[in-house]
Amino acid sequence: MTEEVTLTIDGREIRATPGDNLVKVARAHDINIPSLCYFEHLDQPLGTCRVCMCNVDGRIVPACMQRVHAGMEVAFETPKLSDMRHAVLEMMFAEGNHVCPACPKSGDCDLQRLGYEMEVRTVRFPHLFKDRYIDLNAKRTVVDTNRCVKCARCVEEVRTDDGKQVYSFCNRGNETVVAIDYEQEARLTDAQARKAMRVCPTGAIIVRGEPSWTRPFGDRRYDLHPIRGPETLVRRKKTKATPNKRDKKTVATISLAGCYGCHMSMLDTDLGLIDRVDIIEFNKSPLNDIKEFTKRCDLGIIEGGVCNSDNVEVLKEFRRQCDVLVCIGECAVWGGVPALRNTIPLRECLEETYLHCESVEPGQGVVPFDDDLPKLLDRVYACNEIVKIDHYIPGCPPNADIIWKSVANILWDEDNSILYSDFKYD
Ligand code: SF4
Ligand code: SF4
Repeated sequence: MTEEVTLTIDGREIRATPGDNLVKVARAHDINIPSLCYFEHLDQPLGTCRVCMCNVDGRIVPACMQRVHAGMEVAFETPKLSDMRHAVLEMMFAEGNHVCPACPKSGDCDLQRLGYEMEVRTVRFPHLFKDRYIDLNAKRTVVDTNRCVKCARCVEEVRTDDGKQVYSFCNRGNETVVAIDYEQEARLTDAQARKAMRVCPTGAIIVRGEPSWTRPFGDRRYDLHPIRGPETLVRRKKTKATPNKRDKKTVATISLAGCYGCHMSMLDTDLGLIDRVDIIEFNKSPLNDIKEFTKRCDLGIIEGGVCNSDNVEVLKEFRRQCDVLVCIGECAVWGGVPALRNTIPLRECLEETYLHCESVEPGQGVVPFDDDLPKLLDRVYACNEIVKIDHYIPGCPPNADIIWKSVANILWDEDNSILYSDFKYD
């Protein structure tokens, strides 16, 4: 029997068998190093996702590629490393086209779950909005390259009965996509096709005909059960103020390129709104139909992304008139559903809508143009691409309690963490 050695992770002494994988060892001691590509049974780890970056003996390396040895010193929970892992995850969201409300894997997706766990409320990188394809040509599965994070799990793990590879990578760099060997794919059994969907940490591989969207919110794999830590996503600090000590604040709200769903959600608090009116005075807002600012506001709530010149002006005015700006909902956070047009040239969008759509008589369509109409931008922008945003509340829409609790926390300078079970991209 091999004698155990001692290593340290964040200063904590741990005994382990030399040669064991660092991620496995850490997890066995309740230190959950995140990963989207690690499989314990793979002796040669994939090392593709880089979400597990840590510092080993003074070098920043992916933890899944390290085997433990005597005296190994691992740093994991440092601000710099945490920010690095956060940035890697943010890049995945910015690089793909992830529309969780329309994804069959939502609620069961490892990428989404890590987003919740690591509290990714927005991304620091501009979304690429590349026009990626969905491969509908295979018999058993559909591969949506918009959601692929190139982890190589499917390439390594999915095989036919006689061991033939089904998926592979083609192209290079940002053009890398998963290619399907159609002949071999057609030979996958039901169980193998389902395994392909399961090993994919995102919604990039979906089994044809597999019932999806059948489980309600709350019953999905990751709705309530984070892989690590307590049920709360982030530590809750003690609140500094109680409601009866709160001084009255002024709030403005606006819907830009959104559906007003977030505003409807804000109203979905019934009698709670009456309590809020005692401590919040609304200024410019569709909630009271005040159309112009009459005073400077403590906080502005923004729903919707930025799709035209009017949205740009209104958002800049909110930035000037409000001390703090909060984006609520996916559209304000990164563009959301209106941003689906970002992969299509604006001209094509307009022609399809006004000239070629089925409700337009042939030859009768006109693309509206008038100096009074706001000018459409080349794409839909996230609010933080136009002005500085102070806080983000994700969800489509976030529920009323989350919005008002967060707004109150921000207004009265309390901690504004969101419970894991309340954190939603869909
Ligand atoms: S559920 Fe996962 S794969 Fe699907 S869009 Fe959301 S993050 Fe992407
Ligand atoms: S399709 Fe899924 S499993 Fe395959 S590389 Fe992409 S994200 Fe990974």
